[in-house]
Amino acid sequence: MVSAPVRVRFCPSPTGNPHVGLVRTALFNWAFARHHKGTLVFRIEDTDAARDSEESYNQLLDAMRWLGFDWDEGPEVGGPHVPYRQSQRMDIYADVARRLQEAGHAYRCYCTTEELDARREAARAAGKPSGYDGKCRELSAEQIAAYEAEGRTPIVRFRMPDRPITFTDLVRGELTFTPENVSDYGILRANGAPLYTLVNPVDDALMEITHVLRGEDLLSSTPRQIALYAALAEIGVGNGTTPQFGHLPYVMGEGNKKLSKRDPQSSLNLYRERGFLPEGLLNYLSLLGWSLAEDRDIFTMDEMVAAFDIKDVNANPARFDLKKCEHINAEHLRRLDPKAFIEACGPWLKAPHAPWRPEAFDQAAFEAIAPHAQTRLTVLSDITANVDFLFLDEPVEDEASWNKAMKEGSDALLRTVRAKLAELADWNAEELKSAVLAAGEEHGLKLGKAQAPVRVAITGRTVGLPLFESLEVLGRERTLARVDAALAKLGG
Ligand code: GLU
Ligand code: ZN
Repeated sequence: MVSAPVRVRFCPSPTGNPHVGLVRTALFNWAFARHHKGTLVFRIEDTDAARDSEESYNQLLDAMRWLGFDWDEGPEVGGPHVPYRQSQRMDIYADVARRLQEAGHAYRCYCTTEELDARREAARAAGKPSGYDGKCRELSAEQIAAYEAEGRTPIVRFRMPDRPITFTDLVRGELTFTPENVSDYGILRANGAPLYTLVNPVDDALMEITHVLRGEDLLSSTPRQIALYAALAEIGVGNGTTPQFGHLPYVMGEGNKKLSKRDPQSSLNLYRERGFLPEGLLNYLSLLGWSLAEDRDIFTMDEMVAAFDIKDVNANPARFDLKKCEHINAEHLRRLDPKAFIEACGPWLKAPHAPWRPEAFDQAAFEAIAPHAQTRLTVLSDITANVDFLFLDEPVEDEASWNKAMKEGSDALLRTVRAKLAELADWNAEELKSAVLAAGEEHGLKLGKAQAPVRVAITGRTVGLPLFESLEVLGRERTLARVDAALAKLGG
């Protein structure tokens, strides 16, 4: 089905922070390119000076690197179609717009916004299609002169053909758009600035893009772009072929509303700050409209690339489920090589994340406890609170945990525990467990109940890593000192 070498593009506009919808689009294009041993073009659509920013551009590149995507042409890597930032290609667009007008595919429209609004309202009231009505399609030289004399500045519109446009969407199958629903559209602003409607297809043509995979929100621009492609072919821009289009399903957020860029859970930074693994996040995002197999939710990017077929993408809206995203990330953490896990925790064990004095950190102690954390974490940032008992001078103070664990009789229990721990011959998890178990029995408490005050005395929290392994790593001296401190606090 895919014969010619595949050339796909990821072409975001650098506005705001990268969001998960954008990442999903990048992922599907990347996987498609890699699956077909094709080319991924990374292009920056920064023609809107009012909205684009250099900061956002840098964030996009940083995000792509963090996610582990490589691109074959684009910023920092170059390629045969340099430059890949549209802001540096303005001469090309001006030239194409001029040639489109000369060939009669585009024309100047002098209508003011007020006039357009009034006519749109009237058409609506009459139950007619409310797109541009073609008023300026055939202006005479006199009319143009009169408008110019009035000081009007025209925009440039593309002339849509008066016939239906049919294409086969790779996700949705055959679609037809009738002329009433796709009117002539602006390609240049009154100040001559080119619009997305022009620059995006022009670059897709020049860069010989074979497949356009993008969000469903852009579906309505596809018939326009297909008509523009035909005109570009006629005037000799690009190699004359029209790409195939595949529109990826909407992503729905809370309350079954479309996930918007403004939703906090759509910000990529949030996932980075919480310590998602790129592979975990991408694995989850791949499920927004696609699946590897009915019974396989967890897989690597290599596995995705091997299996990815745009034909398997589902047209129905996908639901963004943060819980599932977290679950998948946790599974990826479990699958890391223990060394890789330790390394991945690195940034969260340092300032500004770590609350302890830097010199209090002990790599060997961390490595001893790390295997117990690896099977329990959801996101890497959780590591800090799970191991802080090892590196803080005193356990964190958490009133709620204290009140929950310290009951009547807790002081007596802790005294028994202390006595037993003090005389342990071997300070290891197994012995520690037997000691606390025995102490609990003396006070008529099951292990779970006996553990709680010990855990809070040592770590400050009611939940955490396995207690006896934690005590083993913390060591006898510090464990006993913390039990003493708790007893003092209890007034014992
Ligand atoms: N720059 C456009 C956007 O960010 C690209 C749309 C497309 O893929 O055609 O939405
Ligand atoms: Zn007009």
